[in-house]
Amino acid sequence: MRLPPLIGISIGLVSLTITTMLLGNTFFQVAPDEREQTFAYRRTLSEALAIQYSTLASYHDFETIDIAMNELVERTPDILSAALVSATGETLAATSHHESLWIPPENNESTLDQVQIPIFQGLAKWGVLQIRFHSYSASQSTAFLPLPWVRFIIFVALLGFLGYYFFMKRTLRHLDPSSVIPKRVKAALDNLEEGVVILDARDQIILANKAFLSQTGKDTAALLGSSLTDLTWLTTEETLAEKTPWELARLQNRPQTGVPRVLSASQGNLRKLLINCSPITDDHGNVTGMLVSFNDVTELDQANAQLVSALHTLQESQSEVMKKNEELERLATRDPLTGCFNRRAFFEQFEQAFVSARANGTTLSCIMTDIDHFKAFNDRYGHALGDQVIQVVIKTMSECIRPTDVIGRYGGEEFCVILPEADRTVAMTIAERMRQKVELESGAKIRTTSGICITSSFGVASISSDLVDPAELVDHADKALYGAKEGGRNQVGFWNHRQGIAELPYSPVAVP
Ligand code: GH3
Ligand code: MG
Ligand code: MG
Repeated sequence: MRLPPLIGISIGLVSLTITTMLLGNTFFQVAPDEREQTFAYRRTLSEALAIQYSTLASYHDFETIDIAMNELVERTPDILSAALVSATGETLAATSHHESLWIPPENNESTLDQVQIPIFQGLAKWGVLQIRFHSYSASQSTAFLPLPWVRFIIFVALLGFLGYYFFMKRTLRHLDPSSVIPKRVKAALDNLEEGVVILDARDQIILANKAFLSQTGKDTAALLGSSLTDLTWLTTEETLAEKTPWELARLQNRPQTGVPRVLSASQGNLRKLLINCSPITDDHGNVTGMLVSFNDVTELDQANAQLVSALHTLQESQSEVMKKNEELERLATRDPLTGCFNRRAFFEQFEQAFVSARANGTTLSCIMTDIDHFKAFNDRYGHALGDQVIQVVIKTMSECIRPTDVIGRYGGEEFCVILPEADRTVAMTIAERMRQKVELESGAKIRTTSGICITSSFGVASISSDLVDPAELVDHADKALYGAKEGGRNQVGFWNHRQGIAELPYSPVAVP
């Protein structure tokens, strides 16, 4: 069982006082030595008697001395017996039983209980007065009351204890900072949902409201007087080097708001707190304390985390849906063999490009292309290799177009390219680049034992003011392609709309 602190401190102070007194007495001998005092008193008394008796003895009036001695013993309880003995050892006067009570002292010196006073006649020793007192130790053993010094110490201990106790109780009430906070202020703070503490100049808690007690899981006694910094605050790499918000507020003499910190409350319960600190200053602006409030956002944080995770899941499924959509769109708009636009999707884009060219007054060209003698590949190497040829050719041609150009599979081994803002020269250049690249590179890309030669023919047409829809432009390009085929294949033809002829600037070269 632990003593209440106030009683413990009082006992400690009393012990300290008594120890100091006893130590002081050891050095300064303040306390009277009762034995010495008694001995001195007995000697003085004996000397006075010796003077009286020696006077009577000088008249040889030993009878009177006898009477006086007996009366002395009768009246003085401290004296047991007395005798006047001559220098030769003859008892001249004595009370009864003196002989049995007197024990000849060692070295013939007076003791505390037996005092002997020599009587001189001139320079010669005439005799000695022997007085037997009550044994000092015996008188002590029969005394129930302690010595005055002991009584004094007990008195000091008791009164000291009471004095210290009440004095400290009163002083501590004055020193207890929480007692200066009016009860109604405390009650008001207890009604707040936010945790509130008031710190002294050394960051020690001098008030904590109910909300803060529940946030920390501690009781008032554990919190009051302890340092707010000493509570278990979790640190991250970021916050490790940082000062606590209340330290910062004190150093800068400026409020700190919404500083997030995590407190490990009792039983490892983690609380996410948003901390606000306002310095309390004296008349000179010096920070003498701190008002700190704690907004517990643990539940809010958890709900936020759940929302974020739900959002994340939603985003994931959304991107999944988008992926699926893209896939569906790809399936709907792309040609499965080559990956370029299918005929329907291609014409949608062509329509837009046509309308845009018309609206902006810009030029627009179209290339129609067809693999030369393709049937022969199928017939000679099989359908699978034919597919491979189509893939290689479209890939090779795709490397020649601009990012704004769109390529689509028109049908079979025929492809069509839209070239926005490309006039005849640009379109012809691109078509010729395609032709050359197909001729030079495609054959090498086909995995066959014998090398094969692949070429394509191209027909180019550019928009003119009398065209009403993209189909007409395609038709012109197709006519130019027909011309290129007719002209011997592996060449680029341009449809001269004004003259209604396919112009063939390049000569035919290859036949597989
Ligand atoms: P030309 O030089 O006049 O264009 O001669 P060609 O043999 O290429 O023309 P033709 O129209 O006679 O033959 C085209 C062949 O392409 C016929 C058809 O079997 C083949 N073909 C069409 N589509 C595909 C396809 O997707 N894969 C394969 N392997 N062959 C195809
Ligand atoms: Mg062909
Ligand atoms: Mg064909």
